[in-house]
Amino acid sequence: MTAGKALLEAAARLAACGVDEPGPNAQWLLADAMGVPRLRLLSEPGLPVEAAALRKFKKGLVLKEQGLPLAYILGWQDFRDIRIKVDKRVLVPRPETEELAGLAAAFLRTRSGELLALDYGAGSGAIGLWLAKEFPALRLKAVEKSARALACAAENAAALGLAGRVEFIKASTLETVAGPVDLIVSNPPYIPTSVIPGLAPEVLSEPRVALDGGGDGLDIAWMLVRLAPSKLKKNGALIMELGGAQAKKIMAAMPDAVWKEKRTHKDLNGIERFVFAVLNDK
Ligand code: GLN
Repeated sequence: MTAGKALLEAAARLAACGVDEPGPNAQWLLADAMGVPRLRLLSEPGLPVEAAALRKFKKGLVLKEQGLPLAYILGWQDFRDIRIKVDKRVLVPRPETEELAGLAAAFLRTRSGELLALDYGAGSGAIGLWLAKEFPALRLKAVEKSARALACAAENAAALGLAGRVEFIKASTLETVAGPVDLIVSNPPYIPTSVIPGLAPEVLSEPRVALDGGGDGLDIAWMLVRLAPSKLKKNGALIMELGGAQAKKIMAAMPDAVWKEKRTHKDLNGIERFVFAVLNDK
């Protein structure tokens, strides 16, 4: 069996099962099974696939056909320039969230000296750990409601050599977390409860607690807007990722007496997804 032929067959199989992006999914699974870079499969389609690799590949394909997210099968997801270990304990970090982390970094670059950041709903830890890697002076509070997710974040921190600068806090509100911090960044669960049953099987195999944002999807976002002022340093920022029309709605509800420099940002798909605001220094 050659890589090229294995990929063609696998992509057809995945497509027949209704899997999105069958080609790239097949490529990642085969590359992982063979232990070669994905692009090598494309430049050298004649590469032979050994029996053991083929067996591993086929196992991965079956899981993909069953609707498991690719990242759970591989066991990792790249997030900007770090590799995050993921499994069913945590939400798979999304490309939009890489943009959120970029916005947070742009804000932190305007600050000097010691930096204290809080990642609310840390999940795998992707956002906060990437920031900690990017800013050697940064200390991080990784706040998470799910003990299982928090354990995953701690494993990632250790694997990235960042554990010494991270405090892991199990909490389901900002209220009990000590401040003040320079930045609160969050990709909270923001899907309205009623929308959840219609989601793709890949998404439904992720932790419900990481997805379900309550009736309007904004339970956590409202809580953060309400409590962040008491946890931020003056001129500290709250930066959140939300869905569809939510960002503008939340921003409109943030009082000018409390917040300044309020703005929303579009993601690369043109969706108004991020809310940015700085706490007044008055
Ligand atoms: N902070 C994590 C991420 O962005 C998890 C977010 C969540 O569970 N909603 O990937």
